[in-house]
Amino acid sequence: MNIDSIRNGVVIDHISAGRGMKLYELLGLDELDVSVAIIKNVVSRKMGKKDIIKIDAELPVNFDLIGYVDPGATVNIIKDGELVEKLDLDMPELLRGVIKCKNPRCISSTEQELEQVFRLTDRKNKVYRCIYCETKAP
Ligand code: ZN
Repeated sequence: MNIDSIRNGVVIDHISAGRGMKLYELLGLDELDVSVAIIKNVVSRKMGKKDIIKIDAELPVNFDLIGYVDPGATVNIIKDGELVEKLDLDMPELLRGVIKCKNPRCISSTEQELEQVFRLTDRKNKVYRCIYCETKAP
């Protein structure tokens, strides 16, 4: 794939350098049968260095997850070779079904059908806590 000319797809830009791989894994991109490019340590005037993920496919991406991993990232939606949407992300108030509670006695660990939900409790320090047992997100 020509990483500079995605016709239809998603480009996640301004990822803090080093977080690209984590985002790639959490988004489950390794499990998808689509062309994905991770470009690491791109020199950026604004950020010094950044990572970029280019997905050469139209697929729904979990904005909450990206905002959780890296609230400074931007998501560009490309259609027919044109940038049709540019989204600045923010830390979501609630994270649903993205991360799992580490507390083995948490009701969300014992009741498998219960949705994993974390709430942003401290925006400044980026702290998320399980809504069931208050355990901090990893
Ligand atoms: Zn919990």
